[in-house]
Amino acid sequence: MNCPFCGCLTKIERGYVEVSGDDSPEEETVVLYVQELCCRNPSCSSFRQVVRRIQNRIR
Ligand SMILES: [Zn+2]
Repeated sequence: MNCPFCGCLTKIERGYVEVSGDDSPEEETVVLYVQELCCRNPSCSSFRQVVRRIQNRIR
């Protein structure tokens, strides 16, 4: 996936598991694996910042 600002290829900076809908019993619990993508172009204004977030539903 590319950086929306400069078009350069991004790299996955970190991944973590996120749980949403856990607060109320009526809400369905959704477990997501989130990957944060950072720009690796030093001349981009968003260099080393998270430019995209990918969420993959685990269950
Ligand atoms: Zn960029």
